[in-house]
Amino acid sequence: MALHRKRQRADGATADTYATHAMQVSVPRFHMPAQGLRPDVAFHLVNDDLMLDGNARQNLATFCQTWFDDEIHKLMDLSIDKNMIDKDEYPATAEVESRCVHILAELWNSPAGVDTIGCSTTGSSEAAMLGGLALKWRWRERRMADGKPADRPNLITGPVQVCWHKFARYFDVELREVPLERDRLVMTPDEVLKRVDENTIGVVPTLGVTFTCQYEPIADIAAALDRLQAERGIDVPIHVDAASGGFIAPFVAPNLQWDFRLPRVHSINASGHKFGLAPLGVGWIIWREKQDLPEGLVFRVNYLGGDMPTFALNFSRPGGQIICQYYLMLRLGKDGYRLIHESCYGVAQHVAKRIPKLGPFEVLYDGDSNSGIPAVSWTLREGAKAHYSLFDLSDRLRSRGWQVAAYSMVPNIEDMVVMRILIRHGFSRDMADALLDDLQRSLEYFKTHPVTHKMGPEDGRSYNHDAIKPPPIRAKVTA
Ligand SMILES: *Cc1c(COP(=O)(O)O)cnc(C)c1O
Repeated sequence: MALHRKRQRADGATADTYATHAMQVSVPRFHMPAQGLRPDVAFHLVNDDLMLDGNARQNLATFCQTWFDDEIHKLMDLSIDKNMIDKDEYPATAEVESRCVHILAELWNSPAGVDTIGCSTTGSSEAAMLGGLALKWRWRERRMADGKPADRPNLITGPVQVCWHKFARYFDVELREVPLERDRLVMTPDEVLKRVDENTIGVVPTLGVTFTCQYEPIADIAAALDRLQAERGIDVPIHVDAASGGFIAPFVAPNLQWDFRLPRVHSINASGHKFGLAPLGVGWIIWREKQDLPEGLVFRVNYLGGDMPTFALNFSRPGGQIICQYYLMLRLGKDGYRLIHESCYGVAQHVAKRIPKLGPFEVLYDGDSNSGIPAVSWTLREGAKAHYSLFDLSDRLRSRGWQVAAYSMVPNIEDMVVMRILIRHGFSRDMADALLDDLQRSLEYFKTHPVTHKMGPEDGRSYNHDAIKPPPIRAKVTA
């Protein structure tokens, strides 16, 4: 018996995973253990920790893809050892990346054809940094050529995702973000023109705004900038942040003019891992013409063999996401992407119809495929007497596993709180009905249990991580 116990302690081959010593003691959290563990024991320790994460499929706050077919799992496994930066060693992967760039350029109606300039990135955030840098460099070249100062660049945007706040801060550009009003939740041509001057490096409209999921009026903004150039000679390029819409509009709203069909549009980014349906970790950026990407930003390295031009913030990066992106383009075709997105819009519209019947809600965006992405956003009707805040509602829904974003809006409507759900591939009508039932149950609960101290933005997990402003830099980081 004693010997048996001793053997168990030593976590030998016969001990059941949960009967091992390692499972009976606390695992080290902040130091590396001197000795390792059996792989099954270590696996379950880690996996059990992860049980406390939310269920990704019930995460209606994220724009990122959470449903994958078996072939994607297989391709990710097969490419786990492929570093996409090693283009000379993995020329086939490099070729796949280049095919994706050309396919996207065609989808976005680029005039460049075989001369298309673009690349993959880790996501739209990196793509935004690259797009923003190209704008800044081009503006500086123009200013220097005119013998004018180039030290006070500014960028005009609507209500943008946090990556543009980062770009502005990291690369010393003044951000001129158009403030919103309760009845105007996107940028408009007039608001852009009020802020443009000769130091404007570009205008960034969003195709699928983070806060409400609507499309900004890109063609109207382009037309206003055309007029500005004709009247005052100021030539301001547009970069479209199509993180979500870039993989939706070409299939579902082909007549919507937002892309390279507008000569004013010089570059576009999109996230492959959002409505491009690829696993996490891939974004794309395409420039209109060669001149739109200044040579000075492109590095040529030959220490991997071959002469490789690179424009990226990172060096090593996984290749699997890019390979899966290409797989999806082949597997689904334009028709497949359209059908998937149309089903999502159908579910979104179903939810949007039910929401105002459940409570004192005003739908801000109802999942219309010509004016936004597959999603629904709503707020409490003005003057509504609710015994809860939308933060309380979000918290209540979490008890059934649903993660629904509630967040306060941006300047100048910070008092307005918005709730938003993204409808992604893999979210069925039945799942939507289950969510709506739980929403109704939550509202009935608040009737019998009115909240005395309503949660505010400061209490809540807001789940709207996309919208979080970069925190002030803290001197001390605790473990
Ligand atoms: C998600 C998002 C981003 C950031 O993209 P990542 O791929 O997460 O880096 C930028 N802009 C918009 C509009 C987005 O929705």
